[in-house]
Amino acid sequence: MKKIQMSTPLVEMDGDEMTRILWQQIKEELLLPYVELKTVYFDLGLPEREKTADRVTVEAAEATKQYGVAVKCATITPNQQRVEEYQLTEMWKSPNGTIRSILDGTVFRAPIMVRGVSPVVKTWKKPITIARHAYGDVYKATEYRVPGPGVAELVFAGADGRDFRQTIYEFECAGVLQGQYNKDSSIVSFARSCFQYAVDTRQDLWFSTKDTISKKYDHTFKDIFQEIFEKEYQARFEALGITYFYTLIDDAVARVIRSKGGFIWACKNYDGDVMSDMVSTAFGSLAMMTSVLVSPDGKYEYEAAHGTVTRHYYKYLEGENPSTNPMATLFAWTGALRKRGELDGIAALGEFADKLERASIETIESGIMTKDLAGLWEGETPATAVDTGVFLQSIKLRLEKQLEA
Ligand code: NAD
Repeated sequence: MKKIQMSTPLVEMDGDEMTRILWQQIKEELLLPYVELKTVYFDLGLPEREKTADRVTVEAAEATKQYGVAVKCATITPNQQRVEEYQLTEMWKSPNGTIRSILDGTVFRAPIMVRGVSPVVKTWKKPITIARHAYGDVYKATEYRVPGPGVAELVFAGADGRDFRQTIYEFECAGVLQGQYNKDSSIVSFARSCFQYAVDTRQDLWFSTKDTISKKYDHTFKDIFQEIFEKEYQARFEALGITYFYTLIDDAVARVIRSKGGFIWACKNYDGDVMSDMVSTAFGSLAMMTSVLVSPDGKYEYEAAHGTVTRHYYKYLEGENPSTNPMATLFAWTGALRKRGELDGIAALGEFADKLERASIETIESGIMTKDLAGLWEGETPATAVDTGVFLQSIKLRLEKQLEA
């Protein structure tokens, strides 16, 4: 069989632990035999980040700006224990955080649904995509542990001389203090990314904040969304028969639980962080959640939503064959290849991605799956829990049949 040719390389960001092993297996078994894979490779594994003083992460993000489409493996975000384990000279920042602030994007997370693994919420029939603003708020906050009585003030010194000063609280005892910010330019990008994604995927868009309590901060988000919608997207939404709908986050939570799914739920940074884990767990498994960072100028970074599956990695190091679910990592690759095909006008890449996704979903639906899914299985045929290698081979068999057809 002739391999599919690519014209522009993907930015490939390798990662850590078990997902680094999966990365290699997926490439060797399911990609390299069929695609003349072109990538610009960056090793974001922790040892290389240490060696380059984390320059490699910045370079990978810059390359994404240049080439347009990246695929990223899960990476360790160091904590104190990792500093000792990897003998780090510094507690390097989260690579995802670094990449997000360079690309200033929105993260869209959607579950991979298969027959036989039903969502905990019985009414959910279609995926719910969470759009998370990936900039600012508590993730860029300045915090202070108040040691004792004193006055906390919010102070702004305007470059044009317009100052602002207001008492936050007169502390009579010790406490905590936090200063958060966001920028209109980033909120505008967030809004545009969401409206554009809704148009691209033809789904309704919901947006929720706590604007009744946060009358300036959250209200600004609400107002900017409304303005961009009316000015730039309303006509397109109407033509496609999709809707934009704003509601208070409490109301959104209640409505989401009662919904059938099939829409995008845009959330501020923290809400999106929490809600995407809640939604993915309710859909079945974190290992069945895809994630893509979309920047306002149309750059894409595909990844799995889960971490490096440390526990499985230690088993692997002891010579075991763990049953790690490779679906989300595989879908990061198919998402990136499909997008590259779309941008470069190479239909064969998109078709290959579709077939590979179908082969992997059908493998699970036939009863062959990794252990995490076997525990959730409600299909008619009994589940056969296999290790990652056997699971990938089963996908490969189906893929080859589809490629021959
Ligand atoms: P994790 O996602 O690796 O694991 C959380 C739980 O889910 C574990 O019980 C694990 O066994 C299970 N799980 C996750 N993915 C699975 C899969 N594919 N197959 C089977 N089971 C799966 O998160 P963690 O344990 O909190 O973190 C481990 C490391 O990953 C940490 O160093 C953290 O910094 C990193 N992390 C990276 C990312 C990322 O790069 N996107 C995201 C989260 C965590």
